[in-house]
Amino acid sequence: MALIVQKYGGTSVGNTDRIQNVARRVAEHRGRGDQVVVVVSAMSGVTDGLIKLAKQITPLPSEREMDMLLATGEQQTIALAAIALHARGVPAVSLTGAQAGIVTDGVHTKAKIQNITPDEVHRLLDAGNVVIVAGFQGQTEEGQITTLGRGGSDLTAIAMAAALKADLCQIYTDVDGVYTSDPRLAPSARKLPEISYDEMLELAGSGAKVMQLRSVEFAKKFNVVFEVRSSLNDNPGTIVKEETTSMEDVVVRGVSIDKNQAEVTVEGVPDRPGSAARIFKSLADAAINVDMIVQNVSHDGGSRVTDISFTVDKPDLLKASSVIDGLMPELGIRGFATDEGIAKLSIVGVGMRSHSGVAARMFEILAEHGVNIGMISTSEIKVSVVIPLADGDRALKAVHEAFIG
Ligand code: ADP
Ligand code: ASP
Ligand code: MG
Repeated sequence: MALIVQKYGGTSVGNTDRIQNVARRVAEHRGRGDQVVVVVSAMSGVTDGLIKLAKQITPLPSEREMDMLLATGEQQTIALAAIALHARGVPAVSLTGAQAGIVTDGVHTKAKIQNITPDEVHRLLDAGNVVIVAGFQGQTEEGQITTLGRGGSDLTAIAMAAALKADLCQIYTDVDGVYTSDPRLAPSARKLPEISYDEMLELAGSGAKVMQLRSVEFAKKFNVVFEVRSSLNDNPGTIVKEETTSMEDVVVRGVSIDKNQAEVTVEGVPDRPGSAARIFKSLADAAINVDMIVQNVSHDGGSRVTDISFTVDKPDLLKASSVIDGLMPELGIRGFATDEGIAKLSIVGVGMRSHSGVAARMFEILAEHGVNIGMISTSEIKVSVVIPLADGDRALKAVHEAFIG
């Protein structure tokens, strides 16, 4: 008897027909004698709808109250999924994140899982139930409801699989695997039979929302092998696992685009030790993730000043602006500007470690297509550039075509 964790994302539970489809799949597995833990997201559009409601009231709502609000999305789905299983005669019990033993820190809207005590999950499984766990949510030691960041149901599933020592972890979504690029944007994208944790991490970190970044970090840390596959067909999916040497034969495994970034440029920062530290420490204290950073030194009259540009997730832009605004008098900053019209385009592949000239080739392709590069960052297995948002889709296709075909 195997223990399987299956996660179904928003589209896969988007209406009651889809929820019944999930129940059918789960019932099939259970019929084979397996124990099944199901993690579900909110129905597609529900989380966005709830965020919109709060923002109709105020642009920066309390993060504690946002967690209270957003956690309700997944609670609808767990109950509906349990009802759909009951209708098939399958015993099933739904659990909130807290009831499933998921304990997090207190960073509301981006909480990290501290530990999972899945005693209740085991007890219910042993009594013959399918256990349905609300994705994306947990609870602090003090009993506060938290959420795990957008796309966080992936993390719930991977962490549950690790805590339960599951034999199989399947992420069911609306595509039948991880592709060389988002198949919605690059029609020639191909499905990958397998991908390494490191490549999946870099793709997820650069906009391939098929897996949440933090869930892949967790899977790598605890060596949870998982499969990404479709809830709408039976095609084999993509296995995500530790890399094998043959993976280095491919130079560029995937191309991704992140349109959810915004750029902040802090102008006229006096060039003295500690300024950058103060800025980025203040952003970190506000739980704002900064991605790329570029600094330019210039002269303002007699004194050296710098302009510092960095990117943040679009939903954090308002918060980042208020942090910088608060630092202006103390640091003597001249001003700051924000730009939401950017996109980050990235190429990823473990083969880049052993091949040179890959970045130069990417810049050439962009130049040939008249796309201007704003910022550049690289890692051992990734090259990212910031480009105008309006050029994003065109640039993605051109780069995919040149490297992958
Ligand atoms: P779910 O609601 O199931 O969590 P998401 O919408 O979060 O699903 O993620 C699935 C989507 O990710 C796909 O519909 C696809 O458009 C997008 N995507 C982006 N990059 C890739 C990629 N490289 N491979 C597959 N899908 C990708
Ligand atoms: N419902 C949450 C979101 O939309 C979590 C998830 O779907 O994984 O971000
Ligand atoms: Mg998702």
